[in-house]
Amino acid sequence: MPDLVLRAAALIDGTGADPIYDAEVVVRNGVIAHVGSAGAYADDAEVVDYGDATIMPGLIDCHCHLQFGAYESHERTLAVHKSASNEERVMTAIANGQRALATGVTTMRDTGGYLTLNMLVRDALRRGLALGPRLLVCGAPITTTGGHLNWCGLRADSREDVIRALRQMVEAGADFIKVMATGGMMTPGSQAGNSQYNLETLRALVTDSHRLQRHVAAHVLGADGCRDAIDAGVDTLEHCSWLTPEGIRGQSLIDEEAVERIDASHQSVHMTLAAMNRTPFRDLAHLDALPADERERIRAAGANFRYMRERGVPHVVSTDAGVIDTPFHEFPLSVISAVVALDTTPVDAVHLVTGAAAQAIGLGGLTGALIPGRQADLLVVDGDAAENICNIARTVSVYLGGREVVRNRRLEVLAN
Ligand SMILES: [Zn+2]
Repeated sequence: MPDLVLRAAALIDGTGADPIYDAEVVVRNGVIAHVGSAGAYADDAEVVDYGDATIMPGLIDCHCHLQFGAYESHERTLAVHKSASNEERVMTAIANGQRALATGVTTMRDTGGYLTLNMLVRDALRRGLALGPRLLVCGAPITTTGGHLNWCGLRADSREDVIRALRQMVEAGADFIKVMATGGMMTPGSQAGNSQYNLETLRALVTDSHRLQRHVAAHVLGADGCRDAIDAGVDTLEHCSWLTPEGIRGQSLIDEEAVERIDASHQSVHMTLAAMNRTPFRDLAHLDALPADERERIRAAGANFRYMRERGVPHVVSTDAGVIDTPFHEFPLSVISAVVALDTTPVDAVHLVTGAAAQAIGLGGLTGALIPGRQADLLVVDGDAAENICNIARTVSVYLGGREVVRNRRLEVLAN
C-alpha cells in the first residue's frame, strides 16, 4: 500500500502546541509516519488535499454511556434502558458508537452500562463485525444497593462486596474499573451530594484495581466524595463537582487543601460538559454569536475547574453522552463549550479531548496526538478550527487507524 499524504491549511497536533499552517500528515500502514509543512514529503504517495480545512487527532470521549438513549428527561432515559432487552442494549451501544464516530470520535471510554454487555460490544467492534470507535469498557459501575445506576446490576455495599465486584468485572474483561463514589442526579433517592462509600473502602478498591493493572474512574459529585476519591488514589475524577451535601447545583464546597493533594502523575479531573452546558452551541457559527447570559452561565459552571487547572491539576473534557439531552452526534459541542467554560483557546480545548484524554486513560502511546508512531486516528473539519472552535462541528472526514471511515460527512460501509 502506498503512503497516504493528507494536506490541509491548518493542523492541530493534540499536544497543545501551536497549529501548523499549510501542513501535511503522512500515514503508513495505519500509523502516522510524518507530520510537517506541506510538500516536505515527496515520495511516491497518494495525496489528498483538503484545502481550507483543519486536520487534528481523532477525538476521545472519556465519559459516555453507549447503552443510554439521551432522551429529553432522566426518567425516560432510565425507563428505556431498564426495560430494554440485552439485545436492544447492545444494538443501541453500537449505533451510538457510530453516531460519535461520524463526528470524529475515534476512541470512547464507556463509564457504565448493564453488567458485561459492553465487553461484547467492544469485542465485536474490534473484530470488525460492525464499524465503530475504539472502546475501553468497565462493564457496569460498582454502586450501592439503591445507589447511583444500581439497575446496571453491580451492587456492592461492604468492602468485601466491592472487591468481589471489581474482580468480577476484571474477570469478564473490563479495561478499567468505575465506581460510583457519590449518588447521582439520574438516580432518584441516591443523594448526589452524599458519599456512597467511605475512604477505607475506596482505598481498598483502588489498591486491588491497581494490583490488577486497571485504572479507576470515580463518579464524584459531592464534595466529601471528591476529597475521598483524591485521597484514595482514584485515577480519573469524573464530574468533580464539589457539591454541598444537599447536592444543590451551583453551590459548591471546593476543598482547596484536597486539590493540593491531587497527584498529577496519575490523577486527572474530567469535566463532563453535557445537556444545558452544550445545547446553546447547536448550529452556532462563531462564539461571538453566543448570548451574553449563556456565556456567563457556562463560565460559572467552569469556575472550580479553572481554579484546579491554575493549580496544575491535569484536566480532560468529556461529555456524559447518553444521559439527558446529550446525544452522541453532538460531541463537538462539548469542545466548543470548553473554550467558554475554561476560558481557554481552541488549541487547548482540542488538547483536552485528544492528547490529555489519551494520557489520562492509559492510551498516551497509542492515539490522541499527531506524532509519528501513533495510530492514524484523524479528524478533518472545514475551516480553521484553531481560529474558530465552532468549525470543529463541520466534520469532513474521519480516519480510524489510517482507514477513512467517514467521507463527506457520511459513515462508510464495511467493505473487505
Ligand atoms: Zn456518567
